[in-house]
Amino acid sequence: MPELLAPAGNFEKLRAAILYGADAVYLSGRMFGMRAAADNFSTEELGAAVSYAHEHHVRVYLTVNVMPREHEYPLLRTYFEELKSIPVDALIIADLGVLALAKELLPGVPIHISTQANVVSAETCRAYQALGAERIVLARELTMEEIKRIRDAVPDVELEAFIHGSMCISYSGRCLLSNFFTGRDANRGMCTQPCRWNYQLRGHYELIEEKRPDTPISIEEVNGEAFFMSSRDTCMIEHIPELMESGIDSFKIEGRIKSAYYAAVVTNTYRMAMNAYAAGNYVYDPHWGRELDSVSHRPYHTGYYFDDPTANANTTDYPGYLRENAYLAVVLSYNEENGVALLQQRNKYSCGDMVELLTPGKTGVAFLASAMWNEANEPIEAVPHPQMRFYMKMPFAVKPGDILRAAT
Ligand code: SF4
Repeated sequence: MPELLAPAGNFEKLRAAILYGADAVYLSGRMFGMRAAADNFSTEELGAAVSYAHEHHVRVYLTVNVMPREHEYPLLRTYFEELKSIPVDALIIADLGVLALAKELLPGVPIHISTQANVVSAETCRAYQALGAERIVLARELTMEEIKRIRDAVPDVELEAFIHGSMCISYSGRCLLSNFFTGRDANRGMCTQPCRWNYQLRGHYELIEEKRPDTPISIEEVNGEAFFMSSRDTCMIEHIPELMESGIDSFKIEGRIKSAYYAAVVTNTYRMAMNAYAAGNYVYDPHWGRELDSVSHRPYHTGYYFDDPTANANTTDYPGYLRENAYLAVVLSYNEENGVALLQQRNKYSCGDMVELLTPGKTGVAFLASAMWNEANEPIEAVPHPQMRFYMKMPFAVKPGDILRAAT
C-alpha cells in the first residue's frame, strides 16, 4: 500500500493527521522550510513532534526546501548541527548546496528531493539518486502517464506525488508576482498568492502580447471581477484505483497552512478510500467527495494528472475560497456510563443546532446538539468562548479526538 503523507503545520495539525490515518507527516522547523506562514516547529518542539509521531508509528519528514543565499549557510550549518539529536525520518530538500551540506552533517538521514526542484524526468531522478536521494517528490505538472513512465524507468527510486491541495500557476513557487506586489518571497514560503487576486479590466477583455496578436488571453469579467491566473485545487479522490496502480510510493496532501480540521478531514477521506481499495471492495463512495467539499478549498480539478499544462492551465475564475464547515469542538473524553462527552470549543454553537460528528475511518454523522453543561455542571444554551471546555450529551459513543462540526 502506498504511504499517505499529510501536512502538519503545528502540533494540533500533527495530532489530527496522525489520529485520522496518516502514515507519515511533513513539517518545517522555524527556519529554511517553505510555508513560512504555517506555525512551524522550534527545534525543541520538533523533537517532541518526532517522539509523538514515532510513538504512533508515523514517520516525520522535515522540509528544508528553500534556496538559501550565500550568507545563510552558516546559520544552516548551525541548524543541521542542532538536528543531529532529532531522529527525523527524512529531509525534504530542493537545493543542491543544501543537499551537499546535509550529506556532510547528517549523513544517515534519508534525502527526499522537494517538488520545488521540479523533477519531471527519469534522467533527473537518476541524477538525484546518484547524489544520495532516496525519494523524489515529483513536479505537480506531470501527467499520470508520464509518472508511470518514470516509475518504469527508475524502479529503485521512491516516488512521491501530490494528490490533493493547492496548485501554483508557475512551476511550484517559481514566480515573482508575490515579491513584486508585497515583497514576500514565494521561494521562501511567503507567497501571498497574487495570481488569485482580482485584476480590474480597463476596457479590454483580451490580453494581447504585442508580437502575438493571434494568441490572446481572453478574460471573462463576472460581476466586475476578472481572474485569469488563479489555479484550481487538485483533488484525486475519484481516481484512487488509478493512483494505487500508478507505482507512486507516497500520496501527498498539500496544506500546512490549512486548519487542523482540514488535516483531519482530508487525511481521513483518502485513508478510507485507500483502505477500501486495498481490501478489494472498492466502490467510490460519494460521501468522500462531500467530506472534501467540507474543507476550505478552491474549485476542484484533477490537476495535471489527465491534462497537460500546455493544453489546459487548470485555472478558475471563482473568486476566493469555498469555505469549510465550521469546526465547532473536539472531544477530549467520553463517559460510557452516562453518554456524556467532555469537549473543547473551537467555534461558537448552541443547543438546537444541527451538528455532525467526524471520527477516524468514517464520514460525518449528523445529529441535533442537545443538553450541554459548563465545567461547573450548570446547564448552558451555547458555548461562546474559544477553547471553553464543556459537557454534552451524545446520541452515540464517541472517542477523544473526534470532531464536531456544523452540519451542511
Ligand atoms: S503568486 Fe501564484 S503562481 Fe506565483 S508562486 Fe504564488 S501561488 Fe505560485
